[in-house]
Amino acid sequence: MPKINGERLLADLRRIADFGRYETGVHRPHLSPQDVESRHWLVERMKEAGLEPVIDGVGTVMGRSPKSGPRLLMGSHSDTQPRGGWLDGVMGVIYGLEVARALAEDPETAHLAVDVASWADEEGHWGQMVGSRSYVGLFSEADIDKARHRDEGTPMRDALKAAGLESAPRVHFEEGKYRGYLEAHIEQGGLLEAAGKRIGIVTAIVGIFVFRLTFKGIQNHAGTTPMPIRKDAGVAMMRLYNDVMDKFPTITGPRSVWTVGKMSIEPGAPAIIPGKAEMVLQFRDADVAVLNRFEAALLEIVAAHNKSGPCSVESVNLSRTMPTVMDERFLDAIEESAATHAPEKHVRMPSGAGHDAQVVGLKLPAAMMFVPSIGGISHHFTENTADADIVLGCQVFADAAAKILRGN
Ligand SMILES: [Zn+2]
Repeated sequence: MPKINGERLLADLRRIADFGRYETGVHRPHLSPQDVESRHWLVERMKEAGLEPVIDGVGTVMGRSPKSGPRLLMGSHSDTQPRGGWLDGVMGVIYGLEVARALAEDPETAHLAVDVASWADEEGHWGQMVGSRSYVGLFSEADIDKARHRDEGTPMRDALKAAGLESAPRVHFEEGKYRGYLEAHIEQGGLLEAAGKRIGIVTAIVGIFVFRLTFKGIQNHAGTTPMPIRKDAGVAMMRLYNDVMDKFPTITGPRSVWTVGKMSIEPGAPAIIPGKAEMVLQFRDADVAVLNRFEAALLEIVAAHNKSGPCSVESVNLSRTMPTVMDERFLDAIEESAATHAPEKHVRMPSGAGHDAQVVGLKLPAAMMFVPSIGGISHHFTENTADADIVLGCQVFADAAAKILRGN
């Protein structure tokens, strides 16, 4: 079995964290100068590893192996959230690189081919998972024309030009090229740590349903309008939210989550009864049956509120992202490797966060693996993972890749 070099792996991770370093984390949004620099550094490291890398027309780095043996695609993303962590995304890219190196160094596995991708803009500064969606054909030239930076409004075309990528071809999925796709990532939650486990074998990436609920009442004077005749949209919203919080726990799956992360009342003044209110509810689960159950319950609650009044409620579905189930044979391969290197310290679990694997998984058998996040913290510059867990995870991943490539 291939033996990874833990020191080389950690040194690469620490080096790429220099690009956009912020406190103990990294600020490296896609196509920022630091992001572009880090992609050129990655290209050089890929060349040293014997890969043939390109940076494509949306900024994805693809390092192709010149070998002709069975081939796997591995990777993740190296862009970050604003003031994000040093491992979110890029750990999976450097794992791919280290696995390619480790396979090449072992005469028994030297013929096996691994292509390594750093997908553009996973963190969504220009669109939604632009690199992987472009790869599978879900992000067109017209989408690039339309794309603007979510905070600054800059056209993506301008940013690509500034990065020297305006005429770079885009990489696209090729039928029959790969056995599948493997992605490693930090957990970004506290389940592994709490359970005393070191390897998470991701069974599915959760689906997310999002609804906007709009409440209409009558705006009026807060001092002169008697309580019995008020149509307070704010109160209607709170009551419906309360009903959701009462109902959902009775129909939940073991790891379902639901959140109202956005709420507003209008006009939003202390002396005015709100005439309009709005909240956005999202729920996540790895099982589509659970998602459908939540949706049905929500619509029942909405209907009941419309019937009882005094305000009206309208629900609009904003999106339905279906769960992505990971490839069972790949999960077995990761589990066998984990059983060798981390006996009793591995667990199967869903991913509550979205990842490129759910996009690439539309075209290829895919699997994901997690290592623990200290304190469950992520999307913050204090995000971290123990060095020993980073190294262990890569060794498990390398073994799993070799098993899958050899077909056993
Ligand atoms: Zn990530």
